[in-house]
Amino acid sequence: MQLDNPDTQSKRRSLPPIRTSKLESKLLHQIGKASKEFELIEPDDKVMVCVSGGKDSMAMLHLLQIIQRRAPFPFSLVAVNLDQKQPGFPAHVLPEWFRAQGVEYRILEQDTYSIVIDKVPAGKTYCSLCSRLRRGILYNAAEEMGCSKIALGHHRDDIIETLLLNQFFSGQTKTMPPKLYSQDGRNIVIRPLAMCAEADLAAFAEELEFPIIPCDLCGSQENLQRKKIKRLIAQLAKENDKIPGNLFAATRKVVPSHMLDMELLKQLED
Ligand code: SF4
Repeated sequence: MQLDNPDTQSKRRSLPPIRTSKLESKLLHQIGKASKEFELIEPDDKVMVCVSGGKDSMAMLHLLQIIQRRAPFPFSLVAVNLDQKQPGFPAHVLPEWFRAQGVEYRILEQDTYSIVIDKVPAGKTYCSLCSRLRRGILYNAAEEMGCSKIALGHHRDDIIETLLLNQFFSGQTKTMPPKLYSQDGRNIVIRPLAMCAEADLAAFAEELEFPIIPCDLCGSQENLQRKKIKRLIAQLAKENDKIPGNLFAATRKVVPSHMLDMELLKQLED
């Protein structure tokens, strides 16, 4: 595990570059709304911000640093990247960027790449095992570092794609909630970008010229079903641009009495 300067490890308000744009204000507003509604960030939280090097997690860290400066209560942030030893991973990029952002950080190093290559049969995608291994490492690190919350960079579009993926392929109506207690009760996962649209985050990352690390270094095909769902939503949105927003709204307005879930119906009767 690589550590930054111990002097920087105390709780403090980090200082990302001061700038305001309409887009930044919009994203900050959406994070603030999600945080308030779902009690994502609370006084004295120590938030582990998981940064993969993609546009979403980099935007999340930058925006959370601004929120940290403006919040009426103290909380601390520690950026964490897991170097999974993928071939060609530019290991210097994120430490340099974290230092420029003025944020406390940790780089975890675990060769999950070799495990995945070894275990997954040829022709299959690596993502499922890779994500499971990554999750375990991050959850353990959060506990070891005394972090009260783990922030992941999933956004509104991830949430609606996951909803449809589960409905189409798993026969379940569920998605990624903004706040989730891990099954073993050790960790609380939060998704501060839950109300932010992917297109806005992409535009913001471009505006700020984040040094994005490509996600295909592992050589795996991106999850093909997810790609299909993304295309489907984009296609529908061409005919009616309200569809992505309506799908998201549908996750926030479930009407149990009009569903066929007996467990839910029993709960209504009790
Ligand atoms: S794209 Fe590669 S790094 Fe990302 S989850 Fe899949 S296997 Fe892991």
